Amino acid sequence: MYELQNLNKVRVAFGTGVLLELWRGKLVEPPTTAHFLTYFDGRCRGNCRFCPQARESTADLEMLSRVIWPKFDLEAVLAALKEKSDKFKRICIQAVNFPGVVGVVCELVSRVREVCDLPVSVSCQPLMHEDLRRLASVGVERIGLAFDAATEEIFSRVKGSEYSWEGHMAALKDAKAVFGDKVSTHLIAGLGETEEEMVRSFQFFHDNRVTVALFAFTPIPGTPLSKQPRPEIASYRRLQLARFLIANNLSKAEDMSFEGGRISNFGLDEESLEKVIDSGDPFVTSGCNGCNRPFYNESPRGPIFNYPRKPGRRDIEEIKKLLRSPD
Ligand code: SF4
Repeated sequence: MYELQNLNKVRVAFGTGVLLELWRGKLVEPPTTAHFLTYFDGRCRGNCRFCPQARESTADLEMLSRVIWPKFDLEAVLAALKEKSDKFKRICIQAVNFPGVVGVVCELVSRVREVCDLPVSVSCQPLMHEDLRRLASVGVERIGLAFDAATEEIFSRVKGSEYSWEGHMAALKDAKAVFGDKVSTHLIAGLGETEEEMVRSFQFFHDNRVTVALFAFTPIPGTPLSKQPRPEIASYRRLQLARFLIANNLSKAEDMSFEGGRISNFGLDEESLEKVIDSGDPFVTSGCNGCNRPFYNESPRGPIFNYPRKPGRRDIEEIKKLLRSPD
């Protein structure tokens, strides 16, 4: 068991560390959620082909997506959080999968809640019912169970042997039983799914009252998918719009049309659709409320996939061009 040795250190997302003044750095956009990752001096038991933490990855262990998460003394992090928690709207603890991780996460959550009263999300692998209960009992508000893949076929191709579609579905049921509607999942666009498959996945999770956090595939050196391209930005915009319409009951997958797997109609009249697009809301980072994950999938130089704040007028005009484009 690794519990003891892992309790005096925690990994901190770069932007979170800057706001907590653990280190210096320039922030183009401040994170609204303080992101932490369990520290473990080894690789994850999981082997997701896009993840730098994966069992067979040779990527830098400081990385999660394209962000660095340096390890830091837990006591110093907690002292900083006590002082500066007002800079955040939420705490998110990402869990690497290792023996004893549930105990480590429970301890981390308890310690965090001693110093601030921000709502806490935990994003982790499938857990047993009683472990979910333990997390709820120490004050976790929301649980995230990342499916990442929009279909079972893609899941089995990219999520490695540690996980199964059935196992995730069963764990999702357990998560719902303990956390009710406060369950999120992560879906990654660009793993080989069609837009139609992703939209049907949005609808499935919406019908099951699970919040979808949409990510754009990000190639990371040292992972098996490091040579795979990012999703087309125009396609990603269509997916963001579809996710938003479904999540806000403005349309449904069955009301949308698809040509060759691509969205060709959003199932909403032009005028209402225009209003939604003009609001900019569909293109902002999705997921737990208060989570903006700045530049988690792209460099600030762009193109921006998930806007960490509402896009401005010029960006919206750019988005409209993309949505009208034949690409
Ligand atoms: S949506 Fe954000 S806050 Fe919620 S589990 Fe995912 S990364 Fe964490």
